Amino acid sequence: MHGLMQQRPLSLPHVFHRAEQLFGHKTIVTATADGEQSVTIAEWAQRTRRLATALDTLGVSADGRVGTFCWNTARHLELYLAAPCTGRVLHTLNIRLFPEQLVYIANHAEDEVVFVDRSLLPVLWPLADKFETVRRYVVIDDGADVPIPDDPRVLDYEELLAAAEPYQGRFRVDDENTAAAMCYTSGTTGNPKGVVYSHRSTLLHSLISLIADGAALSERDVMMPVVPMFHANAWGLPYGALLAGSDIVFPGPNMTPQAILGLIQDHKVTVTGGVPTIWMGALPLLDDYDVSSLRTILCGGSAVPRSLSEAYREKIGLPMLHAWGMTETSPIATMSTARSHHAALDESGRADARARQGQPVPLVELRLVDPDTGEEQPWDDVATGEIQAAGPWIAREYYRGEGGGAQFTKDGWLRTGDVASVDRYGFVRLVDRTKDLVKSGGEWISSVELENEIMAHPKVAEAAVIAIPHEKWVERPLACVVVKPGETVTPEEIIEFLTPRVAKWWLPDAVEFIDEVPKTSVGKFSKKTLRDKFAGYQMAGPEE
Ligand code: ADP
Repeated sequence: MHGLMQQRPLSLPHVFHRAEQLFGHKTIVTATADGEQSVTIAEWAQRTRRLATALDTLGVSADGRVGTFCWNTARHLELYLAAPCTGRVLHTLNIRLFPEQLVYIANHAEDEVVFVDRSLLPVLWPLADKFETVRRYVVIDDGADVPIPDDPRVLDYEELLAAAEPYQGRFRVDDENTAAAMCYTSGTTGNPKGVVYSHRSTLLHSLISLIADGAALSERDVMMPVVPMFHANAWGLPYGALLAGSDIVFPGPNMTPQAILGLIQDHKVTVTGGVPTIWMGALPLLDDYDVSSLRTILCGGSAVPRSLSEAYREKIGLPMLHAWGMTETSPIATMSTARSHHAALDESGRADARARQGQPVPLVELRLVDPDTGEEQPWDDVATGEIQAAGPWIAREYYRGEGGGAQFTKDGWLRTGDVASVDRYGFVRLVDRTKDLVKSGGEWISSVELENEIMAHPKVAEAAVIAIPHEKWVERPLACVVVKPGETVTPEEIIEFLTPRVAKWWLPDAVEFIDEVPKTSVGKFSKKTLRDKFAGYQMAGPEE
């Protein structure tokens, strides 16, 4: 017997029309180089309709890839809807990738047009001749004082919109499994891999930003995504905000902690999200701003140090909302909101719980598998294994089937490459990435846990732990530590601080002080760069 409900596609036109019809009076503010631009959702929707027709004028094919090379702005949000609502595929290019990777990605995706913020032209334009399929570059003038190339391929965004008639009527994407957007993983090894989101996956994932045991976006919120719109669709927050009807604030090109805190203060932002390094940078400045409007700081992309979350709780009464995921998981897979069984814990126990990556969100299933035997592991908070994920917004293969067949199991689960243990409530505690674990004498040392402990030292700003090859032990940990400005610490002090906190054989064999932990294109600690920097490093290692 079949159900007798209507078959309506789960597709992004719903997001657009809902926002246009119900929330036209709400606002989108974008910080610019010399001020701010504010539009209502009604104005934004009208511009998006013009852009939709302009994509036809530009000759973008029916499912053509529309590249964006942009900051977080209202105009980027126009592209976020106009491309998929007309059947095209939004392809957000990561503005911080190496040139060779950008060229590879744009060619692999076969981008037909690239929309680029004027301030980013100096990065993009030198590569233009290497982009084999791009026929047009549309420059979005963000007021930056950089020359616009005199080239027939270059068009002006505002002129394009002004010349276009607004698309009439409702957008339609009838097949919800059509591609809506794509993102390439940063590819720490090998070439970047293309993840292709469908309308269905994107819409379902966007709803997760509205759930109560998540960011709980509502019409009463002012949401500011600090996480870039090229980093896994800004974690679904922009689409989520449009569905909920929240006001939106976009930080634009100025991503300094001062600018971000200023926007939170001026616009009374209630919900924001970004990787831990953003919030580490803002921490010393918190006293200078009124951020009392905040109720949720979504944080993930790498482990949120317990000490960071606690520092926010102590200063502004608001710990981080920890989430875990990856480009292949759209990205939200787990979230760590407090549960009733945490109520019995003391403050320190609750901080431990918050430092966990959290429980799978609705519709996501996880399992823990021993990578060697392939056997499923119990959720007893002791056994560790690789996390595998399944669900309607989890990738089942990469674009063109390239670069990672081994990452998908025969029975259709994604192998995340993350090692974790899980408690009986399904709360994940991520031990490490498989490739970052320190394999010492047949056992594992968690670089994440060591880093968290070192960063709890009051004089330490940042710390990253990497494995150094070792003759006897295979690998041993090296701690790379950044000291807070104006402080001094010795290696012995760090080891002394760690001694009561971790197993003796986990203690790093050496501590190196560095000026800054190198960051990846999305602002995470780049262990690869550190490993290259310390290649050939010699350490004694423990006696036994
Ligand atoms: P990249 O591999 O280029 O960093 P992603 O942004 O897809 O690209 O990274 C996903 C990975 O980031 C996860 O597999 C995991 O290792 C790490 N990660 C994400 N969120 C967390 C978190 N909350 N805690 C620890 N690690 C995390």
